[in-house]
Amino acid sequence: MIARAIESGRAEVLRGTVARGSLTPFASILDAPFVGSDFSVLPATSAFGLLARMVRLNAFEPTDLFRLFGIRARRADDLSELMTFSQARHTALARALRLSSVPPTWNLTVWFPFQSSSEILRPEWAFRYCPQCIRSGYHTLLHQLPWINRCPWHGATLINACPCCGSKPPVLADWRFDRNLTCNCGHALLSTNAALKQSVGPPSGAADFIAGYLEWAAIERERVTLVAPEHPTNIASALGDLIPLPRNWARRYGERDSRRHTRVWRAADHAPHPDRKAIKQFDTLRQDRPGFLVVPDQTRGSIAHVAADLALKLPSSSLTEREMNLFLAGIGMGTPKAFQPAQRRFSTTLSTLPPWVVAGQQFLNLACLHPMAYRPIVKLVDIIAPDDRSSFNFHAQATISELNLLIRACGHLLARGYAEGLRAILSRYIPDLYKMRRDAPHLTTPWILVTRDQTRLFSIRVVWIPMDCTQTAAADLLEEAEVANQRRERRHGKSRERLVHNGA
Ligand SMILES: [Zn+2]
Ligand SMILES: [Zn+2]
Repeated sequence: MIARAIESGRAEVLRGTVARGSLTPFASILDAPFVGSDFSVLPATSAFGLLARMVRLNAFEPTDLFRLFGIRARRADDLSELMTFSQARHTALARALRLSSVPPTWNLTVWFPFQSSSEILRPEWAFRYCPQCIRSGYHTLLHQLPWINRCPWHGATLINACPCCGSKPPVLADWRFDRNLTCNCGHALLSTNAALKQSVGPPSGAADFIAGYLEWAAIERERVTLVAPEHPTNIASALGDLIPLPRNWARRYGERDSRRHTRVWRAADHAPHPDRKAIKQFDTLRQDRPGFLVVPDQTRGSIAHVAADLALKLPSSSLTEREMNLFLAGIGMGTPKAFQPAQRRFSTTLSTLPPWVVAGQQFLNLACLHPMAYRPIVKLVDIIAPDDRSSFNFHAQATISELNLLIRACGHLLARGYAEGLRAILSRYIPDLYKMRRDAPHLTTPWILVTRDQTRLFSIRVVWIPMDCTQTAAADLLEEAEVANQRRERRHGKSRERLVHNGA
């Protein structure tokens, strides 16, 4: 406006119509009040990246965060985490920069190709960057995504540590003057010169790539939902394995050397008629401490095989003859001729581990499964049939192929959880299991992606992530989970009692 007024030589026209402040010689600075905040050279910069760059180029001190930007931070705070998850800080920064609104790309969820809260990345948050981009003070949330492993522009592996000493990247809100993003070992991630010249910053094509990525992610978010475990661990590595990128990107930016077990089930056009009772039977898994599950017909075979296959693999003299019979009963097999029974008394504990059949129904002892293995089944049912999980509406709405897909996946989750839990519990009684490589006790947690096409369920993808425990601790984890379930049951029982009491 000032420029226009000067050009036309009629500056006096503005008098009285424009606030005096904006007519000062500093007025144009108000549009971009700080050095280094030019968005045009920083496509989809993260809020933290922008701030870190401005801190260096304007020689800010930690106290300036609040003084100039209104950003409250304690010195021990990870500034990259704060600037990723705090909407209040986003607003403060946008206001200080005179932006009309918060840039949408500061919001982590717009980068997700699935529906989920951004909080999923928070518990194990670590600043992750491209060593070349960051030298110019460029960082984008694209670099934080666990399913992207290389910088699309430099091809550099994205890292979340100091490349020189391996310690955590220097992103706390307590930098020393002119030394932000500089590690204690002396290595500087950000170079003032490079930032001023934009010498190694993202190339001109970066904006196009990001636009393409965000467009793809938006389409995926419409149809893909994440089902994460209740208490997620190894989050970045789980999501890295679970989230599929389009093939051409996967090869270039997403490649990883993981050999985690992944499975995908797709809806089949000519699926056999599913067992309609199954969804209702899975309802048992909602209880605080579910005792026994009536196994859906479609899953009975696999549960019976889990017990029998493991029993047949055990070293000789592990089970008594009666126990062996119970383990094999589900597949209708008697004890093999070569079987050598254990020389001890029949164990009632061991006898409750295999499934058993009463009045034509198969019962599974859920103490054999870690809740992290069976609770996702409930979440899956809720996502696919949110309102009417036990009414007949769902059955009317869901096609045969969808229902079939859901029950197939749930049945597999159940059987796998049972196989792992069974080995863990048996290892207490049969220590030789620790030596059986593939069958040695270990527990995993499923991470699940549900994909729909239009409104129909299309596929279910699962990756199993090991729980953090040693072989010998697996049985302890199951016991702890059982105690936690008991506590839940008591707590809810008490609050129900109180309700009844108050009501009366
Ligand atoms: Zn880069
Ligand atoms: Zn270092």
